[in-house]
Amino acid sequence: MRRLLIDYRSLSELLEDYARYCQPGEVWLRDSSGDHEPRDLLRSLSSQELSARMVGLNAGGGRPTRITTRVSGFFSSSDHDYELIWSPDRQGWGEPPSSGSRTIHYFVPRRYLTDPPYTAEGMLVALCKRNWTSNDEPFWPTDPKYSRCKTCQKRFDELTANLQPTGNA
Ligand SMILES: [Zn+2]
Repeated sequence: MRRLLIDYRSLSELLEDYARYCQPGEVWLRDSSGDHEPRDLLRSLSSQELSARMVGLNAGGGRPTRITTRVSGFFSSSDHDYELIWSPDRQGWGEPPSSGSRTIHYFVPRRYLTDPPYTAEGMLVALCKRNWTSNDEPFWPTDPKYSRCKTCQKRFDELTANLQPTGNA
């Protein structure tokens, strides 16, 4: 299920995945005209713009990842740049990055945790504090063979219990 940016061939493939796997307000594509939700671009771009090839990828250095798309014509082609802007408030269940483990963790913004592990600002950290990941891709659906981290589940249940009315007072 998990896809890397480099695997996408066209802009529409990327937008469709992000529209499917991200909640509204989780990610925007920023260009010179402003910030756009993937769903909105799917509606507003022309079919030619949507089928534009992904020709460039520029990530790292603490800056938002930038993608370049290209519409090719017979005599000329035109490029368009987007920056991927991920909400700093995202949270959800996800696979830990680069591990053979079949346990998924619940990731929250680093600043939500008291005494977080030593990680960079802007990282997402698991509630169990045993894993962290950069905030730059959807929370992909996970294979049913994965199980939830028990510590994350326990803390997640405590958090959501505190947020909900208790019913009988
Ligand atoms: Zn965990």
